[in-house]
Amino acid sequence: MLAHGLLPLGYYTGMCFAAPEKQLFYFYQASEGWKIFFLLAILVPTVTGILAYYWSQNGWDNHPLARTLAFHALPQSGWRAVASSINTEFRRIDKFTTGAPGARVIVTDTWVMKVTTYSLHVAQQQDIHLTVTDSRQHELSPDSNMPVQFLTIRVASINPYVKAFDIRLNSTEYGELREKLHAPIRNAANVVIHQSLSDLFLETFTSLVEINQTYPVPSNQELEPCIGCMQTNANIKLVKNCHEPNEGECQQCYCRPMWCLTCMGKWFASRQDQQHPETWLSSQVPCPTCRAKFCILDVCIIQ
Ligand SMILES: [Zn+2]
Ligand SMILES: [Zn+2]
Ligand SMILES: [Zn+2]
Repeated sequence: MLAHGLLPLGYYTGMCFAAPEKQLFYFYQASEGWKIFFLLAILVPTVTGILAYYWSQNGWDNHPLARTLAFHALPQSGWRAVASSINTEFRRIDKFTTGAPGARVIVTDTWVMKVTTYSLHVAQQQDIHLTVTDSRQHELSPDSNMPVQFLTIRVASINPYVKAFDIRLNSTEYGELREKLHAPIRNAANVVIHQSLSDLFLETFTSLVEINQTYPVPSNQELEPCIGCMQTNANIKLVKNCHEPNEGECQQCYCRPMWCLTCMGKWFASRQDQQHPETWLSSQVPCPTCRAKFCILDVCIIQ
């Protein structure tokens, strides 16, 4: 923090050399704005310096970090005991960590922590309730080669001194987090958590097929149950729509509707190169019954 406080002064000094026409070397000749800036640049590190001095009194007992930790201390011990417990557990290899360096989330056997540049949130596992409050999905797109879902989980503690905080993680890490926690995670918003790539892909597949052309089924044709799941009626017909009949790699499938949207999506995903999800949307797969090749544009929902 002291280092951040010194930045403006460094900037001012830099400007002295970079912009000599502003006459910043001679303080009295510099413009009003620069004078104010210079004073602030002096003031900020002074204040942070005093603050740092105050924190360091009584062996850093006044430091916000020490105070945060002190909330978890047992009556007869101080924040140092908490710090050493966290340190010990942090060194174990089985801890769970996620997030960018600016907002790191660490879960150890006893503690849940979120470390940001200026703050530290610590909660004891036995005191907390976790709730999934939000999810954000990033679709497959040319520049991000995997679909990702980010979950926001609220960590609330029954310890009144511990403020609730949010942690954010990739849905594929959710299983790992749940294993590390002793408490269950509630799902308040009924968020569907996609833990695998195929789960994530299915959502993208469905949303893309929904904007494709639909297929009007002749009124005398009865729809049979999907032969994949036997749960719902077949509602997909493959019609070559991506190119003119004799162009492209796709072929016309003449099978009657036999599959539902979910099963077709799973089939589509299962026939893909699992190492290269970025190719999934643009690839062709064979019809599960007649082996005619089709692409995602050729999947039509029956109306
Ligand atoms: Zn099905
Ligand atoms: Zn077919
Ligand atoms: Zn096609």
